[in-house]
Amino acid sequence: MSKTISHYIQGAVVAGAGTREQPVTNPATGAVSAQVKLGSVADVNEAVASAQAAFPAWADLPPLRRARIMFKFLELLNQHRDDLARMITAEHGKVFTDAQGEVTRGIEIVEFATGIPQLLKTGFTDQVSTGIDNWVLRQPLGVVAGITPFNFPVMVPMWMFPVALACGNTFVLKPSPLDPSPSLFMAELLKKAGLPDGVFNVVQGDKEAVDALLDHPDVKAVSFVGSTPIANYIYETGARHGKRVQALGGAKNHMVVMPDADLDQAVDALIGSAYGSAGERCMAISVALLVGDVGDKIMPKLIERTRQLKVLDGMNLAAEMGPIVTAAARQRISGYIDAGIKEGANLLVDGRGFDGATAGAGCAQGFWLGGTLFDHVKPEMKIYKEEIFGPVLSCVRVPDFAAAVKLINDHEFGNGVSCFTRDGNVAREFGRRIQVGMVGINVPIPVPMAWHGFGGWKRSLFGDMNAYGEEGVRFYTKQKSIMQRWPESIGKGAEFAMPTSK
Ligand code: NAD
Repeated sequence: MSKTISHYIQGAVVAGAGTREQPVTNPATGAVSAQVKLGSVADVNEAVASAQAAFPAWADLPPLRRARIMFKFLELLNQHRDDLARMITAEHGKVFTDAQGEVTRGIEIVEFATGIPQLLKTGFTDQVSTGIDNWVLRQPLGVVAGITPFNFPVMVPMWMFPVALACGNTFVLKPSPLDPSPSLFMAELLKKAGLPDGVFNVVQGDKEAVDALLDHPDVKAVSFVGSTPIANYIYETGARHGKRVQALGGAKNHMVVMPDADLDQAVDALIGSAYGSAGERCMAISVALLVGDVGDKIMPKLIERTRQLKVLDGMNLAAEMGPIVTAAARQRISGYIDAGIKEGANLLVDGRGFDGATAGAGCAQGFWLGGTLFDHVKPEMKIYKEEIFGPVLSCVRVPDFAAAVKLINDHEFGNGVSCFTRDGNVAREFGRRIQVGMVGINVPIPVPMAWHGFGGWKRSLFGDMNAYGEEGVRFYTKQKSIMQRWPESIGKGAEFAMPTSK
């Protein structure tokens, strides 16, 4: 009998009412490690009711006391960083050192959230009019939900709940069913840190649980991270139900390599950002725009480095790239490689023949692909237009900087982008003109740090506010303006004209 992973409601693991479940697999070996419950409408209702009941007391707690719980949570996360990283590698497949990095980037959001007393400070105008003061409060929304993708089972939930909780909201997390274990572990750590029961709940599941959250009148806001079609659906459905929604979607991130760039640095950057985490990152570089003669110079190095990638079981500390998350995802990525060949791109390194048995003991039945490299990809090809979300790098030759900028700005996605150059003016123009939310200059994966906030443009983000940072605080609070006058200054009788400053 394999173990069952279920929900976390009112401070305890519960079996839930839903009867559906699906297997959880170790992508390196293909072995089923557990069954995860798929939450029903009744499970969502129970979690939301628990969060709703916990809300008034939690919201009323001084922010400093909420911050102290975050400090304890932070301590526990640091103690258990490697436990969480091992859980990630076992269910997602990414290499252990990368999983450690994921946990650290999540921890940084908790560090940000410990500053909540300062972050919730607001503006006050003394004597806004004679005898009148005006100030604003930022108050929590109530029960908020987070719906998260498979590729960052620790970091992406932590983009959301530390800030939401610190602001005084209560939370229901619906993680990806592909790697559900870390969600329960984080719930236990929050409880150990002193979080009252019901403030943080987890409902495992799929569309049924998501739809129940979107329908529920007590869920006031939804944060979503995942693919663009689902992000679009969440945004529209949530808005129709009167909820505040931020829905972060898919990506096709380009890296421009200018002729004056340090080409060795550019090669390192391309290899790490295209094949790290097997390309299953929303900030992975999947397109290299090679300007002028860069393509001819760089291609032999790219071919060599792609062939030399150490594709191994993620728990092997020598591994640079692990397996693909599921057999279905591997098939989808292989399908894109077939399409690229058919459309006439030049396949220089083909990852489809990779033999899992070489990745480690027991890996023969895992979901493996090697790094794949295409040259002479054209903008009208499917492999250029669509998100592949796998270890496939498409190189496009462009004549000049202007052509590179135009291609990027015309693309439907606008999550991340990078430009490698030694020319300050090129870098400056790039930063100013590019229609993308997160820009790196000689930085391949410019994921903003905790206090800056994360968000793409175009069809990479639906909504008005970025995840975490001060935008996160704004998303998880609503502004209330209070205008006050005391009796001494009253007594002039009713006023019928619009009040103005006197
Ligand atoms: P996904 O869209 O399949 O799933 C995301 C979440 O939505 C999961 O919790 C899933 O259970 C749920 N879901 C799936 N289908 C649904 C449906 N029909 N109705 C309602 N809910 C549904 O994404 P994924 O495969 O887990 O993650 C990979 C995708 O996420 C990629 O497209 C990647 O670019 C994107 N991503 C984006 C960011 C970002 O910040 N922009 C970050 C990480 C991942």
